[in-house]
Amino acid sequence: MDLRPTPEQEFLRRTVREFAEAEIRPHVMEWDEAQGFPAGLLPRLASLGLMGIQFPELYGGAGLSAIEYCICIEELARVDPSVSLSVAAHNGLCAAHLFMFGSDAQKERYLVPLAKGETLGAWGLTEASAGSDAAAMRTSARRDGDTWVINGSKQFITHGAIGGTIVVMAVTERARGHHGISAFVLERGTPGFSAGKKENKLGMRASDTSEVIFQDCRLPLDAIVGVEGEGFTNTLQVLDAGRVGIAALSVGLAQGAYEAARRYALERRQFGQPIASFQAIQWKLADMATRIAAARLLTYHAAWLKDQHASRTTASSMAKLYASEIAVRAAEECVQIHGGYGFVKDYPAEKFFRDVKLCTIGEGTSEIQRLVIARRLLGK
Ligand SMILES: Cc1cc2nc3c(=O)[nH]c(=O)nc-3n(C[C@H](O)[C@H](O)[C@H](O)COP(=O)(O)OP(=O)(O)OC[C@H]3O[C@@H](n4cnc5c(N)ncnc54)[C@H](O)[C@@H]3O)c2cc1C
Repeated sequence: MDLRPTPEQEFLRRTVREFAEAEIRPHVMEWDEAQGFPAGLLPRLASLGLMGIQFPELYGGAGLSAIEYCICIEELARVDPSVSLSVAAHNGLCAAHLFMFGSDAQKERYLVPLAKGETLGAWGLTEASAGSDAAAMRTSARRDGDTWVINGSKQFITHGAIGGTIVVMAVTERARGHHGISAFVLERGTPGFSAGKKENKLGMRASDTSEVIFQDCRLPLDAIVGVEGEGFTNTLQVLDAGRVGIAALSVGLAQGAYEAARRYALERRQFGQPIASFQAIQWKLADMATRIAAARLLTYHAAWLKDQHASRTTASSMAKLYASEIAVRAAEECVQIHGGYGFVKDYPAEKFFRDVKLCTIGEGTSEIQRLVIARRLLGK
């Protein structure tokens, strides 16, 4: 067992950190208030390989490992969790689905531009009445001659209004339940496909979240991704990897909150001394740092299992569950340590506090992670 990062991994962390500090930090609040993904950032993220982190160079990606993916997502989240969410959803959901299950022709046509950052990817699973119970989806795909006709809508889709490529799950044979759902890929501009309501969110506001609507949207037969009827099973495999990304996002967010709290505790003076000299504040910082270290280890372990092509469902859910919940606590303590200044927008604490709640909800809530873990523990 060797837990040390390689020199290349240290270099990667430094590079992404410097990029985030220089290119993202100055704009965090402006983008939060504008409530949209900053289009101008896309080519800059792409120039660092961040839009195709784990995909082989053959497909325009950076060819990095799952652990290195975590390092990138963590470093973006340390500065702006919503930019990190966009990068994680693009890489870990839409592009990953195409990489894992797409045909060579689909990879060439869709994955390469996604990995090069020429367009953003969206991935549509959730519906208004099918969230945690995603298999209860209503969106349907019906064969009509040499086309598929998609009807329905998807809720809360990251890049739903701006993504150039979307992978969408739809029921192809209702009687077959989980094995009657298939995945399809399409481009924005396809007739019958449109963006619906854009969400006005508590946090993660620089990451676009919108409804997407399909009205007699006709796709060619080769728009199906993977085997017909296996879209839901494939989705669970995509989420196994995607959840490690949300765990890494949570670790990075918690790290950013911890650093802001530590900095403030050393600066802020009350009763004639820095508040960091009070044991109550020291213990908060000690607890935050300890939990972050534990969450990082769980996250890297799950990523390492992915790199080994080993089974990782339990490890991914444990990492996502633990990292997201300690991140919520870290963000809350960050506000507390800032006192009243934690409640206003001049300091980063309130934004971490708003952004963090998504981590215990997106890509499966904490309750669903516990359910996945418990099922595995009990052999169900
Ligand atoms: C900012 C944002 C971005 C998102 N991006 C995407 C995206 O790109 N693509 C996509 O497909 N989806 C996306 N989602 C959707 C997200 O994955 C869902 O919101 C999430 O899976 C929960 O579904 P729900 O909101 O319908 O909650 P529900 O499933 O209605 O859950 C409500 C509550 O009930 C609990 N609950 C439900 N079932 C059980 C159970 N069996 N046991 C115990 N408790 C249970 C839940 O844990 C939760 O606390 C996004 C959501 C947000 C907010």
